[in-house]
Amino acid sequence: MSNETLQAVRGMNDILPDEAGLWLWFEEVVRDWLDSYGYRNIRMPLVEPTSLFKRAIGEVTDIVEKEMYSFEDSLNGDQLTLRPEGTASCVRAVLQHNLLYNAPQRLYYTGQMFRHERPQKGRYRQFHQIGVEALGFAGPDIDAEQILMCARLWKKLGIKDVTLQLNTLGDAESRARHRAKLITYFEQHTAALDAEATRRLHSNPLRILDSKNPAMQELIAHAPKLMDELDAEALAHFQALQDTLTAHGIVFEINTRLVRGLDYYNRTVFEWVTTRLGAQGTICAGGRYDGLVEQIGGKAAPAMGFAMGVERLLALLQDDGMALPKPRVDVYLVHQGELAAKLASRVSEQMRDTGVRVVMHCGGGSFKSQMKKADASGALLAVVIGDDEAQARQVSIKPMQGGEQIKVDVAQLNDTLKQFLN
Ligand code: ATP
Ligand code: MG
Repeated sequence: MSNETLQAVRGMNDILPDEAGLWLWFEEVVRDWLDSYGYRNIRMPLVEPTSLFKRAIGEVTDIVEKEMYSFEDSLNGDQLTLRPEGTASCVRAVLQHNLLYNAPQRLYYTGQMFRHERPQKGRYRQFHQIGVEALGFAGPDIDAEQILMCARLWKKLGIKDVTLQLNTLGDAESRARHRAKLITYFEQHTAALDAEATRRLHSNPLRILDSKNPAMQELIAHAPKLMDELDAEALAHFQALQDTLTAHGIVFEINTRLVRGLDYYNRTVFEWVTTRLGAQGTICAGGRYDGLVEQIGGKAAPAMGFAMGVERLLALLQDDGMALPKPRVDVYLVHQGELAAKLASRVSEQMRDTGVRVVMHCGGGSFKSQMKKADASGALLAVVIGDDEAQARQVSIKPMQGGEQIKVDVAQLNDTLKQFLN
């Protein structure tokens, strides 16, 4: 066996207890927020058949081309992938279990996603998303609901420097018209295309608009606009969404270059962006995907959803100086001697019966060293048991912030603690 220290996989982070407090707090806020809009939790496996993502996300996308952790199940040869996102799995689960039959669904999931990207601040190979999906809803009302939801969450979290970018991708026919025009346009400028754009010219020209290559920005700025191809229905949908947002005082910017990195979107797409996280500034992104349910093999059903990057959101909160919520310890139990040790364990359980948070000292040591640990634990009280006290079935209560130490019978302990803790 090698003595080399084992390390986590690059780009996959441990979340240590000091930071996990913030995660727990955040997850609780998020759960309340989702409850208040009637979204229900769904939990899918982390591993899915590779074909699901190929079919849902699209073969000519960053994710499927170069970011998926795919492998062969060595036992039966199945092609499997660690999920890079949750929408495809969610739709797969909904179809598999017939949830859409007769009833639209408001759903959410949270958890790890995996993408083989170059790790940097705000970009990891294992990261966490909160995904929200509404299936079976066609109208712009649900688009507005989801954007309003986001705005409410930012408010709850105290996040201010985040702006909403909005666009519409239209429907299949207008996209096909636009696509043809794009190909013609880029074919006239092949010399200005980089290698990736050249490769995508005929397979996925829309994604060229998403390029971050500075050398191509000028060319992209003058490319044919999808907005000019939209039909009346898609335009009305987009207008209705904007009207609702405006009525609620939600400020947005229409960004016609926003096309999103996955193929399944149509009509509404949006991103919430901050300038405070460097290049990784998108904290939340989503849109409508009316074609996906059918694409995965179900009866056509409209849908709308979004996903938030938890690491980026928490980085923003920490950047704001958000203090980590400290776990509360009510009592640190200090004890010495054999008889005292037995009583300590019983008394600890007795206190926990009424919801008191107790850390019982384990591992021996002098009273003095135990009191130091009590201090470091942040406990409000030390409950102290020596052998004399144990003989008399009594304990001492010592307020850690100063104040008089008192002695009480074990039988009276729970009642006495109430006076100290509330
Ligand atoms: P980007 O353009 O930053 O690569 P994306 O369009 O690939 O983002 P989505 O697939 O829309 O991202 O995922 C939704 C959100 O999940 C993103 O807005 C971001 O907050 C977060 N996210 C995506 N990829 C990562 C990653 N590798 N590490 C951390 N968070 C991520
Ligand atoms: Mg990406």
